[in-house]
Amino acid sequence: MRTLALEGGRPVRPDFLVFGRPLIGEEEIDEVVDTLRSGWIGYGPKSIRFEEDFAAYTRANHALSMNSATAALHLALIGAGVGRGDEVITTPLTFTATANVIAHVGARPVFVDVDERTQNIDVSRIEAAITPRTRAIMPVHMCGWPCDMNAIREIAARHGIPVVEDAAHATEAWYEGEKIGSMSEFTAFSFYATKNMTTAEGGMLTVRDQKAHDRIKALRLHGLDKDAWKRYSPGGFLPYETIEPGYKYNMNDIQASMGLHQLARLEANLRVRQDIWQQYDEAFAGMDGLVTPAVHDSTSTRHARHLYTLRVMPEQFGCDRMQLINALGAENIGSGIHFIPVHLHRWHRDTYGTGRGDFPVAEAIGDTTVSLPLSAAMTVEDTQDVVAAVRKIAARYQTSNAVHGWQDADHREAA
Ligand SMILES: *Cc1c(COP(=O)(O)O)cnc(C)c1O
Repeated sequence: MRTLALEGGRPVRPDFLVFGRPLIGEEEIDEVVDTLRSGWIGYGPKSIRFEEDFAAYTRANHALSMNSATAALHLALIGAGVGRGDEVITTPLTFTATANVIAHVGARPVFVDVDERTQNIDVSRIEAAITPRTRAIMPVHMCGWPCDMNAIREIAARHGIPVVEDAAHATEAWYEGEKIGSMSEFTAFSFYATKNMTTAEGGMLTVRDQKAHDRIKALRLHGLDKDAWKRYSPGGFLPYETIEPGYKYNMNDIQASMGLHQLARLEANLRVRQDIWQQYDEAFAGMDGLVTPAVHDSTSTRHARHLYTLRVMPEQFGCDRMQLINALGAENIGSGIHFIPVHLHRWHRDTYGTGRGDFPVAEAIGDTTVSLPLSAAMTVEDTQDVVAAVRKIAARYQTSNAVHGWQDADHREAA
């Protein structure tokens, strides 16, 4: 048995495999350079073209580019009319930003536990969480698996409340023949550095209603009645005025330069991640103490394959999740945790008195989940290194077990 790098052995690879490495092509680089040389680097023609392309891709009525998904979610809640004293129903198994924006508008996040298989909000529990103060439902398509949108829309319609989708993981996702981004009043997408497509920082909000679009478009840029490109573009300067105090949430044309080509390559990149996913499944499915992620694809529903999450069952695997993450790091494999449930974070505990036991399914996932690298920038060797590292660590911690796939693989490697 090889010695773990954690215990002084040689790591499975000499250089660090960073988690969430983006695939950036020459097209992005050339386009960014073209923008830098163009004389206009702010929100302008390329951002507008990116919005048009993105709306077409998502079958959305409107798409508004932002400097983050967080900004998009914040403006969506304002657009949905959520304010002080209101409640918004969401999942605890998400990134903190989902709940932060609820607090930003003065509302209270009301968490509903998740379904263990999909890791998405458990739709059978939503109804019980609705009160007269509920003003929105914010589902998150966890890891790229589209939520049960028919059930969510049905509940929302019955109570007359809007749906704001957090699709930060789910740009490529489809749900029963409908594109994510086209289904709800508002859907937010993230182009953060580690996401399925990236503009380094950036996001998009797709919007169904024309009036809501017009208001959010103004709120995105200080609440002005004309954006900067309109003010300065050919034809000469136009005066402007503030309609309501807005925010500084716009994208710029340097980011959009990346976005245009990231979007064009999105489907091809998804196929690469689907392939890595399958290799991981085949490698880990038979291993003691590891639970591979469930996934459901059909002709009409598509998982966006953002995060490949293993669950580590310490008794069977031989070590716990944090030990695995540390051991992977020493082997030069980056990994992540998605997520520590939001209700366990200090601000939520202190402000709302939430804590352990409130949402047992989300907590069980949060305690055991590890995200492995899953990026179209990964080479065949990168994927093999991840598999080899997990097997090596399993071999070290499962020494009492002699008849497992990882040992066969080790023999093959040695032969
Ligand atoms: C990344 C992420 C966000 C925030 O995206 P930004 O573009 O970084 O603001 C929101 N929700 C979820 C579920 C995320 O993973």
